[in-house]
Amino acid sequence: MKRFMVAILSFSFCLLFVCCKNTPAENAPTQLQGKNEAVYSAEFDPETDFDNSLGWTFSSGRNIIETADAFYLLPLSSYIYYGDKATGEYAPLCAKPECLHDEEEFNPSCNAFVGRLSLLSVNYYNGKLYYAKYTNPDYTLYRMDLDGSNHEAVLQLSCDHTKYGIMNACIHRGRVYSSGFKDIVENGEPKQLSSVVCWDMQTGEFKVIFEEKNEYGGRLPMMFFYGKYVYICIESLRGRNVTPGVKILRWDTENELLEPVFDAGEEGISGDLFSCWVVSEDEIYLTALFCGAEHSEFYRISDGKITETFSFTKNGCAFMLDGAVLINGDIEGTDQRWAQIMSFDGKMLFDSNIPLDVLNSTMPASCDYDDIAFTSVHGDPEAFYFLYDCSRSRAGDARWLVRYDISSGTPEAAVVIFATEK
Ligand SMILES: [Zn+2]
Repeated sequence: MKRFMVAILSFSFCLLFVCCKNTPAENAPTQLQGKNEAVYSAEFDPETDFDNSLGWTFSSGRNIIETADAFYLLPLSSYIYYGDKATGEYAPLCAKPECLHDEEEFNPSCNAFVGRLSLLSVNYYNGKLYYAKYTNPDYTLYRMDLDGSNHEAVLQLSCDHTKYGIMNACIHRGRVYSSGFKDIVENGEPKQLSSVVCWDMQTGEFKVIFEEKNEYGGRLPMMFFYGKYVYICIESLRGRNVTPGVKILRWDTENELLEPVFDAGEEGISGDLFSCWVVSEDEIYLTALFCGAEHSEFYRISDGKITETFSFTKNGCAFMLDGAVLINGDIEGTDQRWAQIMSFDGKMLFDSNIPLDVLNSTMPASCDYDDIAFTSVHGDPEAFYFLYDCSRSRAGDARWLVRYDISSGTPEAAVVIFATEK
């Protein structure tokens, strides 16, 4: 039996996904009125804006970068990889002719070498690649050219690390943002502090834009970057054994104001790890990342009010794509997953199994399908990306970025980047 695991908060928990049962469709799709899909894309500037469709603001980042020519990925090892779009080839990001690259475990002279990173965020910003590395006592932001050359430290990400958990690094319009949570002690009582903080890339100025204490468990804020706003989506806890709610706030980066957008209130919404997609300021979609029989609803928020747009017809886990939501799950006893893509208004755009045999030719001997976790899903309704990890043992660690092109209706899978641990 083959089984897949998604590791979202790798340090705190991981969940096993086993076979999911089909459930009948409950709701007919609802037609949206006045939907303007162009709004987010009109706001989005690829040179300066965080790409929500390829970024992962939970946990340790896990962003992938796509430029006109290539994909970039921080694998499990200490080297940044790129995948060439024209040739389909992938390699450590280094053009030095005599270099052994990642054939050596520790090769700081290789241009692809970044060292072991606890933040897996890699960012594109104004023609450069950025990554953040722990350099006691702070993280430091580094910059490099797209060909891997000219690594330079550009900013120390200083803050009070006894209060603020730095768990990712997302660059958006001149600032580095990080969300996280931290165990703290207040008046002798253990509590958790959830936070979103940022640093100005020019001045280094540090700002706390959101913080919230609770005594019921750490909650990681999810960020969504939209023009001059940073939306913050977080479960709101009001007590132990109480259905968690969810609330959305937004930080106005120009006026430096934190504004409430939505609060599920006392009733709450069941589910875990909510994420949102902002189509326009008055059209926001919300779903629990881990959906199941009791919380399979997909929501629209407009004018501060929430409505259920549709329910998923199968129980899986949901990831926001650019303009759609992808639900997927394991198919027990096979080397495939099932995946459905629903538009935000509930139309089924894709409903098919996705093949994993694309991994076969590169599968290390120490890995098999039982060891493979999918750690994130990115993309849009034309092409989506699964990031697969095998981390059974150091010797067998491997990471794949697989692209599924579904523009023809049938998924065409290709390994964009494959990297193994040395
Ligand atoms: Zn090299």
